[in-house]
Amino acid sequence: MFEKTKYFIIDMDGTFYLGDTIIPGSDACLRRIEQTGRDYFFFSNNSSNSVDICCARLAKLGFPTPREKVMLSSFVAAEYILREYPGRTVYLLGNANLYDCMRSAGVPLVQENPDIVLLGFDTDLTYERIRKACRYLANGAIYLATHPDVNCPTADGFIPDTGSMIELFAASTGRRPTVLGKPMLPTVEYLMNKLSCTREELAFVGDRLETDIRVGVDHGVPAVLVMSGVTDDEILRRSTIRPTLTLPALRDLASYL
Ligand SMILES: [Mg+2]
Repeated sequence: MFEKTKYFIIDMDGTFYLGDTIIPGSDACLRRIEQTGRDYFFFSNNSSNSVDICCARLAKLGFPTPREKVMLSSFVAAEYILREYPGRTVYLLGNANLYDCMRSAGVPLVQENPDIVLLGFDTDLTYERIRKACRYLANGAIYLATHPDVNCPTADGFIPDTGSMIELFAASTGRRPTVLGKPMLPTVEYLMNKLSCTREELAFVGDRLETDIRVGVDHGVPAVLVMSGVTDDEILRRSTIRPTLTLPALRDLASYL
C-alpha cells in the first residue's frame, strides 16, 4: 500500500498527541518511518499557531522536532497568495502568530482597501475587524480562508474555529471563501512543490474525515484514518468519506511499512 510513499503527512492533535501526552507508540512509528528510508512531516490546519508554538509543544511532550518538520495551513495560504496574486494586498483576519507568518513570507498586508481578504483562525477577532472585512467582501475583494475546520479541540472542550467564522461572514455578505488548507488541492500542491514529489509519493495520516482524509481521497493521495481522535465507529459508518486504511492509532501504521 505504501510502496511509493516517500512522505507521510501527519496531523498533530488526535493523531500524534492527545491533550498533553503522546498517543502511545506514535513516536516509535515516526522513527520506523525514518528507518524505512521515508520521511514524515507534521501538518496542522490550525493557523492560529506558529511553528515555534508547535515545536515547543512537541518538545514538552518529549519529542523535540526541527522547525522544518512542522507545516501549517498558513504556509499554504502565503504561497498561494504570492503565486496566484503577486503584488496584491491582503487584509488579514488572524492573531499575532498569523500576522508574523504572513509578514515573514512577504505577503503585503494592509489595513485599508485590500485586494484580498484572508480569513485565518483569528483568536483575537474583534467587531471592528468583522465590520471591515464585511465591507471589503461586499465591495468585491478576493476572499480566501486558511482552513475550513468549524471547531478546534482544546484541553477543556472545543472552541469556534475558522469554519464558524466563514458562516458568520456568509450570513452578512453572502460570500464564501476559496479554502486553502486540508482538504483542498492547494495543500497537496504546496506539499508537492515543497517536497519536490508527486502526489503518489505522499500519504496523509489523521483523525478527522472531512479534512485529514478527504484531502487524500479527493486528490489521489492515500489517506490513513486513525481512530485515536475525533472520529468514532458511528461517525465513520455514517460518513461517505472512505479512508484508504483505518487503524486504531498511529502506532499501528508501523506494521504496514
Ligand atoms: Mg486532528
